[in-house]
Amino acid sequence: MLLHRRNTKHYKKYKENARALVHARLAYFNAFYAFPLRRVAIKNSKSRWGSCSKLGNLNFNYKLLFLPIQVIDYVVVHELCHLKEFNHSPKFWALVAQEIPDYLARRKLLRRLERQVLEIKKPARRARRTWGTGSG
Ligand SMILES: [Zn+2]
Repeated sequence: MLLHRRNTKHYKKYKENARALVHARLAYFNAFYAFPLRRVAIKNSKSRWGSCSKLGNLNFNYKLLFLPIQVIDYVVVHELCHLKEFNHSPKFWALVAQEIPDYLARRKLLRRLERQVLEIKKPARRARRTWGTGSG
């Protein structure tokens, strides 16, 4: 599939659409959480859907645009909640569950779909194992 490789043209074409969508969903969910938002960047990452830096900057993969909205919302809320809990502890997952009670099902769907959209590398697999321990 086209999306398997890093494709700059594709990224440039869809980056702003992805930014608009991510910002809209962040605003929607942060109306509930009210965490202080810093910089939000849209990246052309090979193996991650989103990340949160120690400084509180959020990064999202532009390819989120090609996933169903319930999965996008899960990724957005996941990274948003890292602004409060910089870990994958039960406390973190409880925070996610406040807005996404069925986050386990959505995560499962994400894992199934990402094989079609991203080339999954080792860091993503490691992250999945970490999530498995904290979520109960
Ligand atoms: Zn995380």
